[in-house]
Amino acid sequence: VAAAAKTRTRRPSSSGTDVEFADRLTLLNELVSYKVDDLLDRLGVRLRRQGKKLAGACPVHGGGRQDAFNLYPEGHTMPGVWVCRSRGCHKVFKQTLVGFTRGVLSQQEGWEPGGKKPPVPMSKAIAFVCEVVGQKWDAIKADAAAAERKRFVSEVTTYRGYVPQVKEGWDVRDVRKRLECPSPYFLGRGFSAEILDRFSVGDALIGDSQSPMYRRAVVPVFDKQGRVVGTTGRSLLPPCSSCGRHHDPADGCPAEECRRLPQFAKWRNTPGFAKEHHLFNFWGARPAIQKRGKVALVEGPPDVLKLVQAGCENAVALFGVDLNDPQLVLLEMSGAMEVVLLLDPDKGGDAGTETVAETLRRSGFRVSIPRFDEEPGDMSDERVRQDILPLLGG
Ligand SMILES: [Zn+2]
Ligand SMILES: [Zn+2]
Repeated sequence: VAAAAKTRTRRPSSSGTDVEFADRLTLLNELVSYKVDDLLDRLGVRLRRQGKKLAGACPVHGGGRQDAFNLYPEGHTMPGVWVCRSRGCHKVFKQTLVGFTRGVLSQQEGWEPGGKKPPVPMSKAIAFVCEVVGQKWDAIKADAAAAERKRFVSEVTTYRGYVPQVKEGWDVRDVRKRLECPSPYFLGRGFSAEILDRFSVGDALIGDSQSPMYRRAVVPVFDKQGRVVGTTGRSLLPPCSSCGRHHDPADGCPAEECRRLPQFAKWRNTPGFAKEHHLFNFWGARPAIQKRGKVALVEGPPDVLKLVQAGCENAVALFGVDLNDPQLVLLEMSGAMEVVLLLDPDKGGDAGTETVAETLRRSGFRVSIPRFDEEPGDMSDERVRQDILPLLGG
């Protein structure tokens, strides 16, 4: 370590080279994500594997609650993300493996949360990690990362079911060409043109009745890069007073065996969109979640839109009342310590609340369940600001 500590960590202030620094750091974080066991060994940190994550007492602030600390070594979305749900150490150091290393090294040198001693310099963590991956900071190679990635992907078969399919998303501008944006339907429900435009929500301009978004108000779902990975659409038709499904009244009720077909559903997704792997507004909400340590978990996109419109940026939706495993992993990686559960006040929402709350508590989250007589999407901005905003950290 002593030898490695001499490794220079150039960080000149002239323009251009800072980008280089950030690129190197990204590469270093990726490289070490393939050697997490080595890293933990050298840091003297012991964690237990729990499915996709490593869990234990937080090695950054030094102990305390078991299971309050989670680290996600694999995953293409954010390998090396970690969270300390007892003291929020991930807010002090970056949620990367280098940031984690810096935290542990700092702890070993007497740093503590809120204490007087400063953390060890970034250069020390970088030098430590460079030694683990056997690379020189000044000569980190992208092709080394590519080679490791390839080997890693071929080895990791266990996680196939969990890692989202790597799929090229759509450009939002192309999606919007097929929409009347902002959506007249949602404008009519009290959503502002501003919020609908920001989320690119529009009514489908599609004449083909076979298209899944035909006669629907379309809500795009974005990935980390702002590409559209899929869309979900709310039927523009009201529910039928006799069968409850959303069909053209002129057509008469669908036959019994056809009733469950997705074209008659209130909400329908584009084919290939695996909603189990996504939370609506996850990437948009993430900075606010990290800042506040809290997240509102709601059923559908309109609930999120209403919360964001009223000033609650840290809100995500499940696309229903089930919390699927990959969605739980996203929540765990989000940096949230507390989940404010706001499913709809109806039979489905109540049942969902019970099971979702139990799953979240088992994973170490604090869960609060405020009760309201209307779903967030139907609330006035005023009510959201008064009753919900304070629960989400202002
Ligand atoms: Zn901690
Ligand atoms: Zn009907």
